[in-house]
Amino acid sequence: MSLIRKSHKLADVCYDIRGPVLEEAKRLEDEGHRILKLNIGNPAPFGLDAPDEILHDVIRNLPAAQGYSDAKGIFSARKAVMQHCQQRGITEVALEDIYLGNGVSELIVMAMQALLNNGDELLIPAPDYPLWTAAVSLSGGRPVHYLCDENNGWQPDLADMEAKITDRTRGIVVINPNNPTGAVYSEETLKQIVEMARRHDLVLFADEIYDKILYDGAKHYPLAKLAGETLCITFSGLSKSYRAAGFRSGWMFLSGGKEQAADYVEGLSILASMRLCANVPSQFAIQTALGGYQSIDDLVAPGGRLHEQRTLAWERVNAIPGVSCVEPTGALYLFPRLDPAVYPVEDDRQLVLDLLRQEHLLLVEGTAFNWPTPDHLRMVFLPHREDLEKALDKLERFLARLRKA
Ligand code: PLP
Repeated sequence: MSLIRKSHKLADVCYDIRGPVLEEAKRLEDEGHRILKLNIGNPAPFGLDAPDEILHDVIRNLPAAQGYSDAKGIFSARKAVMQHCQQRGITEVALEDIYLGNGVSELIVMAMQALLNNGDELLIPAPDYPLWTAAVSLSGGRPVHYLCDENNGWQPDLADMEAKITDRTRGIVVINPNNPTGAVYSEETLKQIVEMARRHDLVLFADEIYDKILYDGAKHYPLAKLAGETLCITFSGLSKSYRAAGFRSGWMFLSGGKEQAADYVEGLSILASMRLCANVPSQFAIQTALGGYQSIDDLVAPGGRLHEQRTLAWERVNAIPGVSCVEPTGALYLFPRLDPAVYPVEDDRQLVLDLLRQEHLLLVEGTAFNWPTPDHLRMVFLPHREDLEKALDKLERFLARLRKA
């Protein structure tokens, strides 16, 4: 019996991407098994290194990075974020509207803790990147999931979104490009979300960490550019487009109706000050990342490594009987559906545990992304072609056995 219990605040908080299935994978590794891990969007371990110039500049600036910085972050990095906004047509972002954090993760938690009173609701996509749901619960809020429609390329279901707005709703989260579905939202969809937020006085939260990871001519529309006078908080960072996830470096900026948000901004400043500042050496990577040529463009263009891997994984997954997958046009993931008539799965966590134990392949169950039914899996397509082929052989073999059972 455990005498020292976790707080009640954690009762509804879960982050199953790194949950019990990963623990089992570690146990199997300790036994000497090689596990093919397609579970986490962490580019560097797959040979997708951060650009050299970013590493050089961080090393060069180490002597200057020994002390705490301003709570919101160093001037040069925030200026770079500001110029980045200007270049993308988001013109009214000032230095004071920009906060640097230890990854987008920290900033999401800060943004939720500063906003939500107990019982306040936030609209979050289903499926989602589960940190959003966890951060809302941790902050005493109530995550309310609006559906994204698989039959419509995983675009948000706007009717469902609107139907779920109540007098406790404070904001709408838009993850674009999306993890886990790989969908990139149309300008029209985004404009309608903005209009809904405007009508109901809601804050927009735009998680755009994959904004440069686009395939086949998909176009990313920054929500902040469409938001007009509605308060919009945009999140991005170095983990994905710049392959420096371990640096834990991200930013958020406020745009739109900032005047009405002075009290919320004070809350954000209190929380930013409480954690003193973000890791300073990593802040020095931001100007280099945003100011130069170090984007992920070559990797996502046709013939580029990520483009090839995306296409290979998507084609092979779709070729498995009873499996269908919307083609991702952004991000690093596939979110295939297992037809319940072919695979009557009741517990998808058990399914990924069985896959792990039988084939030494690690994926994540769809319900870990707050998807309501146990009929999806999430798979990262970061590994080199050879490992990706091996992983797909394993998945194919496992599902073939399941069909016969
Ligand atoms: N937002 C989304 C949609 C993500 O997929 C991730 C990481 O996978 C994050 C935020 C967290 O990013 P960071 O490494 O900057 O904390």
